[in-house]
Amino acid sequence: MSDTFSVKLPGGEMWTPTFVSTLDEQKCIGCGRCFRVCSRGVLQLVGVSEGGDLIPLDDDDEEYEKKVMTIAHRELCIGCTACAQICPKKCYRHAAVQV
Ligand code: SF4
Ligand code: SF4
Repeated sequence: MSDTFSVKLPGGEMWTPTFVSTLDEQKCIGCGRCFRVCSRGVLQLVGVSEGGDLIPLDDDDEEYEKKVMTIAHRELCIGCTACAQICPKKCYRHAAVQV
């Protein structure tokens, strides 16, 4: 049987982190707010080409239509949900994990 991953805080309270699960790139306007509040380096802003391909922004040779945020390092997420709280377009879904 599995349990939901939770931690006991120093004050004795139990806390269940909910980790970043999905980011809706169709809704994302590339504003960068979530990137600025994430302390863990999980997120990365990229360009989207006319054909829908994701392009690194440091590639000067590629042209992009718009920018979107992506989950680049999911494994570094600590489940604080700051990204979801600041996002004006409600792009994020978060979920607890089973252990
Ligand atoms: S939940 Fe917290 S750590 Fe995870 S991606 Fe969002 S802001 Fe970063
Ligand atoms: S805050 Fe929301 S709309 Fe802005 S870049 Fe992040 S995911 Fe996209």
